[in-house]
Amino acid sequence: MAEGHAVHGMAARVRRLVGQPGRSSGPPGEVFDPAVHDGLAVRDAEAHGKHLLVRMTGSPVTAHLHLGMHGRVSVRRHRRALGADGLPRTDPPTPEGLAWRFLTATDCLEVTRPTICEVLDAEGVAALHDRLGPDPLRDDADPEAAVARLHRSRRALGVLLLDQGVVSGIGNVYRAELLWRARIDPHSPGRAVPVEALQGLWQDAIDLMTVGLGAGWIVTDARQLGDARDLLTRGAPVPRWRRRYAVYLRRGRPCPRCGDTVRAERMGLQTAYWCPGCQVLHG
Ligand SMILES: [Zn+2]
Repeated sequence: MAEGHAVHGMAARVRRLVGQPGRSSGPPGEVFDPAVHDGLAVRDAEAHGKHLLVRMTGSPVTAHLHLGMHGRVSVRRHRRALGADGLPRTDPPTPEGLAWRFLTATDCLEVTRPTICEVLDAEGVAALHDRLGPDPLRDDADPEAAVARLHRSRRALGVLLLDQGVVSGIGNVYRAELLWRARIDPHSPGRAVPVEALQGLWQDAIDLMTVGLGAGWIVTDARQLGDARDLLTRGAPVPRWRRRYAVYLRRGRPCPRCGDTVRAERMGLQTAYWCPGCQVLHG
């Protein structure tokens, strides 16, 4: 499943199409008819958690996409011959599971196998934002509100971090590594964890996911983070180094900080990984 940084990356790629009129196509579904966007241009794209919203010029509706486990959004350049209308004369080959294609003179946006592909009116978009918690990668996310949501619940912090209605965009890898970095046991009830620790956790989520967005993959290892930040500061791409996690997918192996054995357990909808030796159980 794409974590939030990946969906923000998709929004950035879709924004490359802003202002270019295009041909909209795809199988008309019950809730999304690609024809409503035909001849229009992308006005803006944004992510909130794992949801992607694409607005078109001159259209009252917004395309709403959620990619689930297998969905994909691709934006690529093409060199197809153009017709009199300034748009490509022919369509590219149709990939399996195509839900929406938007083809401009130079670029091709394709959405395949999404779990949600629908159009929302302004009210629907507002309702979506309302039901999603603060997203560490959104400028409008209020850190105090995010911390308050985590701190007022008696549910386990490991469950809260994956609940998109509490905070949004954090997936299973970030959950495991953020809690390890913060030295908090995922079973700690939100209300038992000191506010300062939650503030630190939220800021770390912003920092890590910002690097993840820039790098295009999840970087959590301290040394790799330092190297990735250096590259991003210089505007250089971050290579796909071998991923190094402290606890994620490391059940039964030694914790790199204290040497204790990493544990794993189903928590929320996915498996949580943590070190009982150095992650403190609060409450
Ligand atoms: Zn440890």
